Amino acid sequence: MVQSNEKYLIENIEVLKLTEKYGTPLYVYSANKIESQYKRLTDAFSTTNMKVRYACKALTNLNILKIIKRCGSGLDTVSIQEVTLGLKAGFDPKEIIFTPNGISIDEINEAAALGVTINIDNISILEQFGNQHGGSIPIGIRINPHIMAGGNYQISTGHIDSKFGISIHQLRHVERVVETTGLHVKGLHMHTGSEILDIDVFLRGVEILFETARGFPNLQFLDLGSGFKVPLSPDSEGTDIESLGAELSEKFNAFCKEYGRELELWFEPGKYLVSEAGTFLAKVNVVKQTTATVFAGIDSGFNHLIRPMFYNAYQHIVNASNPHGVQRIYTVSGYICETDNFAWDRKISEIKEGDVLAIHNAGAYGFEMSSNYNSRPRPPEVLIMDGEDHLIRKREELEDNLRNQILLDF
Ligand SMILES: *Cc1c(COP(=O)(O)O)cnc(C)c1O
Repeated sequence: MVQSNEKYLIENIEVLKLTEKYGTPLYVYSANKIESQYKRLTDAFSTTNMKVRYACKALTNLNILKIIKRCGSGLDTVSIQEVTLGLKAGFDPKEIIFTPNGISIDEINEAAALGVTINIDNISILEQFGNQHGGSIPIGIRINPHIMAGGNYQISTGHIDSKFGISIHQLRHVERVVETTGLHVKGLHMHTGSEILDIDVFLRGVEILFETARGFPNLQFLDLGSGFKVPLSPDSEGTDIESLGAELSEKFNAFCKEYGRELELWFEPGKYLVSEAGTFLAKVNVVKQTTATVFAGIDSGFNHLIRPMFYNAYQHIVNASNPHGVQRIYTVSGYICETDNFAWDRKISEIKEGDVLAIHNAGAYGFEMSSNYNSRPRPPEVLIMDGEDHLIRKREELEDNLRNQILLDF
């Protein structure tokens, strides 16, 4: 985001022009930012046979999927619906991995019939899949390495209490199922959490994956999942992708020599590719001084962006109508009839009613986790590509919400 002296810009476009044209609240995405993140990641791993599988649950608008595809990425999906969206966006089934948790064998079979790579995360399904298909459909297995990592308990997935993956302590049981059913295991996978700053977590994780891989002779890929952290404010840090790329590539290439085959190294970034590319714009309805604080109440709520209330996530907020004003302290709140804050005690340039606030890092798990709570329609999405803004999802109306209701005659 380049800023001129007075105007607040996304790419080269004035934010206030966007809100005039499309209204508020509004999600805006930058194609350039997605592309530059993709390039940074692939550059960091240029000495390795590395493949990106974008974890599309972060943001599934078809146009975003098309941009990601154009970059050269595949997809990581967690539901049959996401698989279908991926195919609609033009991905080859071979470029899609299906890594669900806790779904039925029927949905897994449906995905397998579409030709995507199935990644299995529990022994019950492994056994059922093996009994039904034997070695005819090669699969991946999700391992739980029991590494505690990531921003907080809700978003870390590799720890001992986690529901994800098959424990490394159950590998003997996995071997037994594989041998008995003739399953063809072509990949091993782990995903230990989100927002991991410490690159040693990945380096430790990959050692566990190497150790496990020695017991599986037919592998094509090792998938390290994701968990890259992106900077959340101008003075915070993200994962050092370049150091990670250098250290991990060296280890990986050495392991391939030992294993006797050129394996592929897969990553499944979600946030890393789309978080910073997205900005959520909302208008201030009320500035309300209470005895204890000043609330800036915006025309949105956790129905549109739930991360602050759900995960206590930090979202950087800038007053786009007055980007260089005097800094004052605000609590930015939503209009939902429950405590519904976007930020607590935050320094923001002086806010007047009618101002537009730009909420950063809203590309990942923003629109995607939105709902119709309080019967509010969901916001539109706009994509900035080649210097122009394009509407890529219309603003919902109450009619959309009513469409599936059946009004009884009584
Ligand atoms: C959610 C998820 C990801 C992406 O996580 P981010 O923190 O958004 O990068 C990757 N892999 C799997 C299996 C996931 O469930």
